[in-house]
Amino acid sequence: MSSDSSDKSKPRVGIYGLTGCAGDQLLLIHCEDEILDIFNAFDIRSFVMASSNPIEDDMDVALVEGSVSTEEQKEHLLEIRKRSKILVAIGNCATVGGVQAMYAQDGTFKDRMKKVYGDMKFITAPMEGQPLDAFVTVDYYLPGCPISAKQALPLLSRLLHGASPEPFPHPVCHECKLQENKCLLLDKKFCLGPLTQGGCGAVCPSHGLPCVGCWGPNPDANFNEHVKLLESFGMTKDEVIRRIRNFGGHKILQYIKDL
Ligand code: SF4
Ligand code: SF4
Repeated sequence: MSSDSSDKSKPRVGIYGLTGCAGDQLLLIHCEDEILDIFNAFDIRSFVMASSNPIEDDMDVALVEGSVSTEEQKEHLLEIRKRSKILVAIGNCATVGGVQAMYAQDGTFKDRMKKVYGDMKFITAPMEGQPLDAFVTVDYYLPGCPISAKQALPLLSRLLHGASPEPFPHPVCHECKLQENKCLLLDKKFCLGPLTQGGCGAVCPSHGLPCVGCWGPNPDANFNEHVKLLESFGMTKDEVIRRIRNFGGHKILQYIKDL
């Protein structure tokens, strides 16, 4: 970790977590072959999963995981944004709101909170989980649940060299085809690949399992037609939409509002 006497020529980086499982931060630590290069190339000043001695000052890059789920986190995020030149949302919770937002805006938030946390005395001003860009400008998005090293390392490399990271532009189906998988839909099996942002390498269909959408919604998808297709397999519309919402967070609402 950094100290105040660290090399000023290295980009200063802070890695933060709001509400999430910390899996994205863990993924970075688990890049065991690259972790030393990362710590050598960057001045990692704040990363509480790696050190309990963070230095909180101006950052070149802030990587932020997790949804904003309390007023305190909102204030923390605003403060991080203020002192960071580039802010990257990492993981499904930060990019779309996460599984904690699967019932976003359905009016049951307070009841659900009470059921789980009782009188909520130990949580300061909770709110429905929302993605970072509901409150601040996000410069780059690194989707995934968790993020993958295949995308995270090129993003870090590009930022290190002053270039813009390139997001993966295709849905999961594109990667599924590259893996030469037989499409599950041909056997009338549930799969959300067409509706889901690619980048994971179609890992689930490659093991015969359906994509459940954990990399978040693909903005170019035809949600209406895919819901109709899955209904034709014997699922109810409500069940299809419930599954689409599992990892869709707040962002999914714009795509399913007319279904
Ligand atoms: S199995 Fe799923 S991800 Fe693969 S091509 Fe079919 S719908 Fe797409
Ligand atoms: S659920 Fe879909 S997006 Fe998530 S890892 Fe599996 S195939 Fe990839």
